[in-house]
Amino acid sequence: TAAGMPSAPAPAISLAGVTKTFQSGRESFTAVGGLDLDIQAGEFFSLLGPSGCGKTTTMRMIAGFEEPTTGVVRLDGTDVTDVAPNHRDVNMVFQSYALFPHLSVADNVAFGLKRKRVGKAETDRRVTEMLELVELGDQAKRKPSQLSGGQRQRVALARALVNQPRALLLDEPLAALDLKLRQAMQMELKRIQRDIGITFIYVTHDQGEALTMSDRIAVMNGGYVEQLGTPAEIYERPATRFVAEFIGTSNLLTGTAAATTSEGTDVRLDCGQHVRIAERLSEGTSVDITVRPEKIQLSTEPPDASMSRVRGTVTDTVYLGSSTHYTVLIGSDTATGTEIVVFQQNDRDLSAADAIAGRGSEVWLSWRPTHS
Ligand code: ATP
Repeated sequence: TAAGMPSAPAPAISLAGVTKTFQSGRESFTAVGGLDLDIQAGEFFSLLGPSGCGKTTTMRMIAGFEEPTTGVVRLDGTDVTDVAPNHRDVNMVFQSYALFPHLSVADNVAFGLKRKRVGKAETDRRVTEMLELVELGDQAKRKPSQLSGGQRQRVALARALVNQPRALLLDEPLAALDLKLRQAMQMELKRIQRDIGITFIYVTHDQGEALTMSDRIAVMNGGYVEQLGTPAEIYERPATRFVAEFIGTSNLLTGTAAATTSEGTDVRLDCGQHVRIAERLSEGTSVDITVRPEKIQLSTEPPDASMSRVRGTVTDTVYLGSSTHYTVLIGSDTATGTEIVVFQQNDRDLSAADAIAGRGSEVWLSWRPTHS
């Protein structure tokens, strides 16, 4: 930048054209096909995707445990592609947290500082502060074997954070915990990250986890990023069919554009019914429509013609207290029809809602055209 011009701060972590191909004998396998990512300082950033999509490999390249085949890794604007892991200002927390069993909680956390020859008073101060942060102030003298899984995970977190890294890399750190503890720890991690304000990069295959905690998510598939955005953007506006199917529950309707109108396109679904979509497509284009179950309204009366709407038969209902999940078959029979899942909140008079939608009822399903 020109002298005197304020320049935007460099991203905390930046990957430019990064690929990774593994060679075993004469076989080669491309785990990461080409990544361009800028992660800002203080962001809670998640890499989300199914097993084998390249999340861990990406993380290991950021940490320096794996060398990219091509491309550049930068930390705060500095090229670190050839810098050893221990000279990068990042720390990694693994799923198997590998605490030293013979050391107390406090000594586990102090380990890295002792190795760096940080003085005793400073070490004690920082260890105490970190144990307070992860709410283990009263467990300092215990051994790892005397702790619960969640507590051990928090010790591992404190041990990584005590080094005051610029960024913390977490690879499925909660995978070993049961559901309840995992959900509690998700909140804890988010709070800790907010309190200390350092960059977190989080690897997970659990979409709920990524949606709950992240500022932004990169959804990965087969070594590439399918979509990058905030949790709401990714959930509300999945860019690809893969993202729509991977995140949350969604219904997929397939069809063909039949006619273009001033308001969008009339689509003939494979089951024979017609729906409107807001996008304008030329006639004959094949169309995939994805609709989230909670965006669909179920009714016995025909909905307003401005809505996308189809008719069907209720084949199953599951009452879940605050909501009811309906399965509705659209099309004439199970062989050619499509089953659509609808989540309705039970915030109205339940007996009325129940009465309209027992098994076998004929119903209308409708959603705003922009939701598809
Ligand atoms: P998971 O959630 O199962 O850990 P992931 O998305 O983290 O999956 P990676 O561990 O990055 O995926 O692996 C991506 C692909 O690269 C996989 O198909 C894996 O088998 C392959 N791979 C990873 N490491 C190596 C290696 N050292 N040699 C050869 N292939 C590897």
